[in-house]
Amino acid sequence: MRRWTVVAPVLVSLGLAGCFERIVEPADVFGDVHRGETYSPASTMIDDWYAVEAIDAQTYAINEPKSSQYNTSYLLVGETRAVMFDAGSGERPAGSRSMREVAARYTGNKPITLILSHFHYDHIADAAAFDDVTLIDRPDIGAEITDGIYTIGPLESHAMDWRPLKVAGLIADGDVLDLGGRTLQVFNLPGHTTESVVLFDRHRNQVFTGDFVYRHLGGIIAFASGSDLTAYKENSTRLLHLTHADTLFFGAHGIPRFDRDWLALLDRALDTMVTGHATYRYVAHYLAPGMPWRVQQDGDLYIYTTPLVDPHLFWSKWALLLVATVSLLVFYSLFRIVRWSLTPIRVDRSGV
Ligand SMILES: [Zn+2]
Repeated sequence: MRRWTVVAPVLVSLGLAGCFERIVEPADVFGDVHRGETYSPASTMIDDWYAVEAIDAQTYAINEPKSSQYNTSYLLVGETRAVMFDAGSGERPAGSRSMREVAARYTGNKPITLILSHFHYDHIADAAAFDDVTLIDRPDIGAEITDGIYTIGPLESHAMDWRPLKVAGLIADGDVLDLGGRTLQVFNLPGHTTESVVLFDRHRNQVFTGDFVYRHLGGIIAFASGSDLTAYKENSTRLLHLTHADTLFFGAHGIPRFDRDWLALLDRALDTMVTGHATYRYVAHYLAPGMPWRVQQDGDLYIYTTPLVDPHLFWSKWALLLVATVSLLVFYSLFRIVRWSLTPIRVDRSGV
C-alpha cells in the first residue's frame, strides 16, 4: 500500500473546496450582447476585417467584429486635421490594413493625430504606424518621454512586447483640440487605468469613452494594475456632470453606442463598492481565468475587481511579495507531501 492512496483523495477534496464559485461562461461574459450587435447595422464591411459606420459625415466608428473583444476605434475628422481614437486590437490577419491605413481612407491628406484611450494591448496595436501621437499630460507619462519617444511597457499594456510611440505633444486634462471647425475636449479620467482618456465633442454632443465605460463585454474591468475604484467613482460622477441626458456615448467594446443611463448605472454600482455596500461574488473572468476576481453585479452590469483587497493594494509590491512567499511555501509543502506519499509504508511483520 502506498500513502498516495490516502493523500490523493484528500488533495482532490481540498482542490474542489477551493474552486471558484464558478467559471464565467460566454453567456455570462457577453450578457445580452450578441456577435451581430457588436457593430451597428448601419456599418459596412470595408474588407474582411473592418466594419465602418459613418456616425455623421465627419465621425466614423471603425469596428473589428471578428476580434475577440469586439473592439471599436473612432476617427473624428475636422476641416484641417483628424483624430484617431485608438489603434486597433492587434488581432487583424497578417497583411491586412493597419488602422492608420483605414483612417487615411477617410481623411484624404489631412494630418492624423493618434490619441489612445489608454495603453492596454487591445487599443494600441497599430500605434507605431502613426507619426503624430498625442498623450495625456501626466507627470508619470511626461517623465518617461525621451527624445520624443514614449515606450509602453509590458506591464502597462498587459502584452509581451514594448511599444515605442512617436510623441508629437502632450495635452492636459480639460484642454481643447481644434481640428478646424470642430473641437474636442480631452479628459483624463482614471479608474480603468490612470491614463484613461475620454473625448467630448460638445457641439455634436458625442462622448468617446474608450474603456472607461462601454456596453457591454464581460463587464467593466477594474482589476488591472492601474485600476483605482475611488478614482473610478469620482470620475464616473464627473462624466455624468459633464454630459446631458441626450448625450451620445461611444465605447471601445461591444455595442458601440449607449446612453447616459448606462453611465449612471456604472456610477451607482461603483458607489456601492467604494462605500463598502457591494455584495461580491468570486468568479473567474475569461480575460484572466486563473484568478478568482471579485465581481459586483447590478443587472446587466458586471464590475470586476481584484480579490480580497482593492487594486492599489493588490498590485502593491508588498502584496506581490506576500503572494510570492505564500506561493513558494505552498509549492514546497506540496512537494514534501507528494514525496512523502510516494514512499511505501513499511509494515513490520516481525511480531506476527
Ligand atoms: Zn483596457
